[in-house]
Amino acid sequence: MSVRVRFAPSPTGEPHIGNVRTVVFNWLFARKMGGQFILRIEDTDRVRYQPETIPVIMEGLRWLGLDWDEGPGLEELKRAGVENAEAYAVGGPYGPYIQSERLPLYKQVAEELIAAGWAYRCNCTPERLEEVRQAQRARGQPPMYDRHCRYLPPDAISPDEPHVIRLKVPLTGRTVFQDVIRGEVVFENAGIDDQVLLKSDGFPTYHLAVVVDDHSMKVTHVIRGDDWVPSTPKHVLLYQALGWEMPVFCHVPLVTMPGGKKLAKRAGATSITEFRKQGYLAEALLNFLALLGWAPGEGETQEIFSREELIERFDLYRVNRAPAAFSYDKLDWMNGVYIRSLSSDELLERLLPFWQEAGLVPVPCPPETRAVLRRIVPLIQERIKHLTDVVEMTDFFFVDIAPPSAEQLLAQGLDAEKAREVLRRTRAVLADVPEFSEEAIEPSLRALVEELGLSNRQVFGLIRIATTGKAVSPPLFGTLSILGRERVLARLEAAERQLM
Ligand code: GLU
Repeated sequence: MSVRVRFAPSPTGEPHIGNVRTVVFNWLFARKMGGQFILRIEDTDRVRYQPETIPVIMEGLRWLGLDWDEGPGLEELKRAGVENAEAYAVGGPYGPYIQSERLPLYKQVAEELIAAGWAYRCNCTPERLEEVRQAQRARGQPPMYDRHCRYLPPDAISPDEPHVIRLKVPLTGRTVFQDVIRGEVVFENAGIDDQVLLKSDGFPTYHLAVVVDDHSMKVTHVIRGDDWVPSTPKHVLLYQALGWEMPVFCHVPLVTMPGGKKLAKRAGATSITEFRKQGYLAEALLNFLALLGWAPGEGETQEIFSREELIERFDLYRVNRAPAAFSYDKLDWMNGVYIRSLSSDELLERLLPFWQEAGLVPVPCPPETRAVLRRIVPLIQERIKHLTDVVEMTDFFFVDIAPPSAEQLLAQGLDAEKAREVLRRTRAVLADVPEFSEEAIEPSLRALVEELGLSNRQVFGLIRIATTGKAVSPPLFGTLSILGRERVLARLEAAERQLM
């Protein structure tokens, strides 16, 4: 039997990167096993519903390369108000894939559960429920429904009056399930609430909808965050009540900061969109997420895996039981490795939107600018860790710089007079080099350093700050050559004037 797994986000915001890691596991498992990866939208929480996040979620998955085999179709997406629905529509044989489109199905199952003695109607008012909760709190008990309506005669509440439908949880005994990661998990029934299954507005709760959908979409493995473990006994009871075969449960440990603290926002990056904006490559983020809580083998030291290698080597049964620590430093390192592994043409394409976003390069990029970018890329490829780094590192190629201050110009320890001399002689040398190429510039400037009897650091540091406005820049000779003779001479002259 082919495996079928799903990612079932609630469109209440963009999924947290920790949850995205769980999506990566689902996707890798599906691809490894030659099965299907389903995307289902769980929009039953109408209070927190934010329809605009549906395309954002889809765009994020697509950017990471996590393609789904089944998911909302065109009409469903249109009805959910998704713009550009054509771009995301996939469809499939078990639709609809947006839960609000499936309400009659949940209602039917809830009624079947009542008929079978596994559920009951409840018309307790919110005020009464609040009183019950307060009394329980006062007694130091966990808040639970007091089962008032469970003991009413069967016809006491008419199907036509406002009410909810609750699960009739056995009062004694235990509910047990096997989990791929945790092994046997046992819950005392006495501690399980008579969960609402169907709300008075006709919408199911998550618990009913997830079971109905996982069953009817023939999901074989439920791989989700282990914050759902406490909900699972309710699901298990529903499977038993309905006589449905249970999927395999696999509750994946949380993602934390190194040291076990809750995953904090660093510079805001906790969603795919944010990582993307901060200049991470999709393939680096995918590689990184796949290794959060999973390793391909005992003693394995390789850390860089292509998408194909990850699929080939992924093993759900080797997912770690301990929470996985999210190290931004490691992600940065990995991103640098991936950036360096790109061809310079490919890197140029990835960098272009960042240059354009910063207003340094026009949209569309004219051919003559592209020719310049093609020369810049090899100079910076070894130096950037994020695609965004390119803006700060290369802005001086595109815009005029303010002449650096005397203090900046003298930072290498020369006095003003000596610095002026260096700048003047550099200008003379650079005015004279026959061709303004890296190959011609380098030997002439090195000869100048010799003649002046100064150090490389002093002379090149001064030229660097004068022509780029920065103490750290891409390699100097290549940078000068790309800037071109005219701009270099003008910037050197402007710097000299700062020291008069
Ligand atoms: N809609 C749930 C969520 O937002 C899905 C949980 C599950 O995978 O069962 O995470």
